[in-house]
Amino acid sequence: MKRLSILGSTGSIGRNVLAIVERFPDRFAVSSLTAKGSIDLLARQIEQFHPEIAVVHTEDLARDLAQKLGSHSDVSILWGDDGYRRAASHESADTVVAAMVGAAGLVPTLAAISAGKDIALANKETLVMAGELVMNAAARAGVNILPIDSEHSAIFQCLQGNRRQDLDRILLTGSGGPFRTWPKARFDTITVEDALKHPNWQMGKKITIDSSTLMNKGLEVIEAKWLFDVPTTMIQVLIHPQSIVHSMVSYKDGSVIAQMGIPDMKGAIAYALSFPERLPLNQPLPDFIGIGQLGFEAPDTAKFPCLALAFDACQTGYTMPAVLNAANEVAVDAFLNGRISHVQIPQVIRQAMGMHTVIEHPTLSHILEADRTARKQAAEVIGALGTGKRRERMNFDN
Ligand code: MG
Repeated sequence: MKRLSILGSTGSIGRNVLAIVERFPDRFAVSSLTAKGSIDLLARQIEQFHPEIAVVHTEDLARDLAQKLGSHSDVSILWGDDGYRRAASHESADTVVAAMVGAAGLVPTLAAISAGKDIALANKETLVMAGELVMNAAARAGVNILPIDSEHSAIFQCLQGNRRQDLDRILLTGSGGPFRTWPKARFDTITVEDALKHPNWQMGKKITIDSSTLMNKGLEVIEAKWLFDVPTTMIQVLIHPQSIVHSMVSYKDGSVIAQMGIPDMKGAIAYALSFPERLPLNQPLPDFIGIGQLGFEAPDTAKFPCLALAFDACQTGYTMPAVLNAANEVAVDAFLNGRISHVQIPQVIRQAMGMHTVIEHPTLSHILEADRTARKQAAEVIGALGTGKRRERMNFDN
């Protein structure tokens, strides 16, 4: 029996993890569940899976959750950063599923590693922000980091049974998102609704917007560099609209190994939880005959500057990817709230990166400081853009 601490249990990945726990009750149990604020769903999950610990963002939410559960529940309810850290490092967990959204996942994941837990990693921002620190900590603690991100799960699977020194390159595939076929001239008109319509994958809002700018692919490049210990130059992004090939690796004899499947996160999640075994998921195979052809294209970085920015940050390394990530989170949030346009997302990130002075071999506090400063600077850039917009509107009214 593997006991799981699920950080971010109410999100898209968290719900899929619990669906697997539900299907294989002899193999998995739940030690803790954490959420930010979705306490209705969290309460239902607690009643179904009986964790020892539940964590929410604030003390008020913790009180509301306790009220919802009533006096018959014996779950310990914690809140805030300390609560997330305790859930991540609690003795009752064997594996910690890191599925929180964004930068919030870093500190709890580091706590889990220090406590000797294996990590099933969905939160790519953890490696983007602090790849060197996290991988060194994992090596010191002797814990495994198993990727849940579908591309990285694919790469991990393609590496099994082969010698690392024979690896030639990683071919990271991506669907290209909803705007792959849009002409660049139309990008000014992109609405939040347009950007939330992903062609192949059902995911949370933040990652869906990241997919629409190709920043998600950029963050995945940085994630792959750390997970598989390869230089940026060994990672190539390929646009593959059908999302059947989840990624590939090539070896020095010219052989290419691909991992394929339908675009559904369950396969990658289950593999991270049961590695090296495979669970009988009874997933349908891709309908190869119905699909007919698998297509591949080069990514268009003129249309999707976020991907180029991510490659730059990956090449620069150290604190720069944390700045990229922080500015992106702030910009995506501003886009979702109607404060900036889709084409302004990369502009905000580029400016925040331009303001940053890189710190080599950063400590956790250097990284958190870079993150804080970049958020502040991105917010200022957005504020200035907003003022420009208001001025334009006023002129128009006049
Ligand atoms: Mg992915």
